[in-house]
Amino acid sequence: MLDSIIIGSGPAGLTAAIYNARADMKVLCIEGNIPGGQLMITTEVENYPGFPEAVTGPDLIKKMRDQAERFGTEFLTKDVTRVDFSEQVKKVYVGDEEYQAKVIIIATGANAKWLNVPGEKELQNKGVSACATCDGFFFKGKKIAVIGGGDTAMEEALFLTKFAEKVTVIHRREELKASKIMQQRAFDNPKIEFLWETTIEEFIGREKLTGLKIKNAKTGDESEFSCEGAFLAIGHVPATAFLGDAVKIDEKGYLLRTENSMTSVAGVFASGDAYDHRYMQAITAAGYGCEAAIDAERWLEEHRKLFEKTQ
Ligand code: NDP
Repeated sequence: MLDSIIIGSGPAGLTAAIYNARADMKVLCIEGNIPGGQLMITTEVENYPGFPEAVTGPDLIKKMRDQAERFGTEFLTKDVTRVDFSEQVKKVYVGDEEYQAKVIIIATGANAKWLNVPGEKELQNKGVSACATCDGFFFKGKKIAVIGGGDTAMEEALFLTKFAEKVTVIHRREELKASKIMQQRAFDNPKIEFLWETTIEEFIGREKLTGLKIKNAKTGDESEFSCEGAFLAIGHVPATAFLGDAVKIDEKGYLLRTENSMTSVAGVFASGDAYDHRYMQAITAAGYGCEAAIDAERWLEEHRKLFEKTQ
């Protein structure tokens, strides 16, 4: 039996792994089929302390993973399919394979949100994307729309100007949610235009995206906006569906904490963006991972007796 299973391998999961493994616990990090989380699709990380010249997301993740490995963390590059936390020894399943541990740290993060309007699914990877870093390159000299008004939308719009002829940010309100500095960078870029108070009703195109059916939120007028690429940047949903009703979550699916970083189940801990919908930064995720690992270690120390018979 393992001491600790960490589910997820973004900054929260890897920090938790570093702390638990360094505390001499037997740690398995089930890192997912696509490991590393959202930092893997981030170009420059300029605000992670310790990197004055910036660092790329994948580089930062690699350093964290190497550090976790150095202290003995084992990794499994698969997705957890279900869990059973009904007994003292917690069970985590990857298909039919069962893994058992005394404590669990959930660090599965969050995924990009989609609009769920007609054409969106059909045209994914045919012009519709939620990752500028991954797909921007394919839109050299093209006309692109970025949907959203937060920091991610500004970051993606700025990044896409490297490739696109023109980038139009389409936002549902008349003011942005993004931080002032990101807004200013976008306003100052001559390749970026804004379409305010506009919603997307449909993604148009057969083999490839050719445009968007848009609606003016004030007048209700509908029209067609022609573009070859559309990047969604409208926030995230927590990756907690695989948990079923094993732990308590809020109405949006974010993990709820009770005492310290514990979930509604004793011995199961919450960390990173699967819990945090306020800060959602690499550094805060790492902080939450650290908290969860320390709380898990202390809880295990205090409850060691519970596992004596099952060793
Ligand atoms: P946010 O939740 O901050 O912004 C989401 C944006 O999408 C909002 O403008 C919102 O509109 C809009 N939106 C949400 N749902 C819909 C919908 N159904 N239809 C149309 N528009 C919609 O998410 P982000 O991903 O931008 O940012 C997440 C966090 O990460 C933030 O804390 C941000 O500061 C941080 N971040 C920081 C970066 C940096 O500092 N370099 C880079 C990227 C992210 P409305 O404004 O009306 O709510």
